[in-house]
Amino acid sequence: SFGESEAQREVRANDRQYVFHSWSAQDAINPLPIAKGEGVRFWDYDGTEYLDFSSQLVNLNLGHQHPGLVAAIQEQAGRLATIQPAMANDVRGELAKRIVEHSFEGARSVFFTNGGADANEYAVRMARHHTGRQKVLARYRSYHGSTATAITLTGEPRRWANGTLDAGVVHFQGPYLYRSAFYAETPEQETERALAHLEQTIQLEGPNTIAAIILETVTGTNGVLVPPPGYLPGVRALADKYGIVIIADEVMVGFGRTGEWFAYQGFDLRPDLVTFAKGVNSGYVPLGGVVISEEIHQTFAKTPFPGGLTYSGHPLACATGVATFDIFEEERILERVNDLGSRVVEPRLRELAAKHPSVGEFRGKGLFWSLELVVDPETREPLVPFNATGEAAAPMNAVVAACKAAGLWPFVHFNRLQIAPPLIISEEDLVAGLDIIDAALDVADGYVTK
Ligand code: PLP
Repeated sequence: SFGESEAQREVRANDRQYVFHSWSAQDAINPLPIAKGEGVRFWDYDGTEYLDFSSQLVNLNLGHQHPGLVAAIQEQAGRLATIQPAMANDVRGELAKRIVEHSFEGARSVFFTNGGADANEYAVRMARHHTGRQKVLARYRSYHGSTATAITLTGEPRRWANGTLDAGVVHFQGPYLYRSAFYAETPEQETERALAHLEQTIQLEGPNTIAAIILETVTGTNGVLVPPPGYLPGVRALADKYGIVIIADEVMVGFGRTGEWFAYQGFDLRPDLVTFAKGVNSGYVPLGGVVISEEIHQTFAKTPFPGGLTYSGHPLACATGVATFDIFEEERILERVNDLGSRVVEPRLRELAAKHPSVGEFRGKGLFWSLELVVDPETREPLVPFNATGEAAAPMNAVVAACKAAGLWPFVHFNRLQIAPPLIISEEDLVAGLDIIDAALDVADGYVTK
């Protein structure tokens, strides 16, 4: 209608004139004005409907406008909208308790932050004070956030333009069998050689200079890289051998994405610090945090922790986190994720990989998957080059356009089409989205040269 397009024009005009956007050349973008969201869908002002297969930025685990989350915000806002962190608060304490109770053996407390990047900043700071060491080992093909230390930890191109903002960070290679840095041909070889490489890195950097190893339990944006059997327990053994703290970055995969409360619970890893954000309350109110082991907690039992945030443990955010735990239990979210992942997604992706020559590999767990697109399945040359932009990115842009034209909002990164719908998605919607991806892969097949 006329009213809708008038409203849309104003949203777009204010955005273009006044809003400065993340990661963008401001004149090169034209953000889509969104009028509303509901469950796994959102709509623009023309009424065009999108099925969200990226959960926004892989944070909207319980979907848009979940009545339980909305009610929790409303109830808390009516009672106590904010309180400073030095005071005790019911929902803050309740959420910390539930997180600790669902965490690793030896977990003791939670420091709340505003999001994922600052959770990683504080985890690194805790590890440094705890060990008295400065260096942190982080992996290539990782994203840890955009603040100073977090962007330096990040092992992909978003770090490049920022320089080195934390001199203590050293990068190493993690396991990635499809494009093995270790010439491995089996998962066992990849695990063994990736661990040998990590140990060599530790020795060459000086074991007693290294405070922490940080890793995404399942690497998210950079490829849904599922660790091969034995890798994460092997990292634990090295950390124990050299007195190094393990920080598991669960910002993207925590809170059900891979079918466990925390992804490390599916890989036999006992971390020392766990960072989370996103799924803790589906991003309805900004919230992140660090789960802290008893041992590290004790480092700050008599000595003050030198750090804090005005909004640490914000009641609106924490009330929504408590409601998230209730909803996960009531709607049996973890059971759904495991069932839909293994019964619906995995077999369908196996079928797509067999049918479409552009699919070099598929991998994932729960409701988190990646299709690695290639122009040549033999050489594994990616559909678009690493860090492709402009013309070089055209093949992936064509795949994205095919998805959007069919009503699916996809999650892509370089040459990968990734699947991360809200965890509340129905089987019917999941199948409908996979059908759209099936058709969009015909577009990718058109670029296959063999
Ligand atoms: N760590 C991981 C694994 C992430 O995926 C992200 C965001 O995508 C972050 C950290 C940063 O979180 P935030 O954007 O909330 O600062």
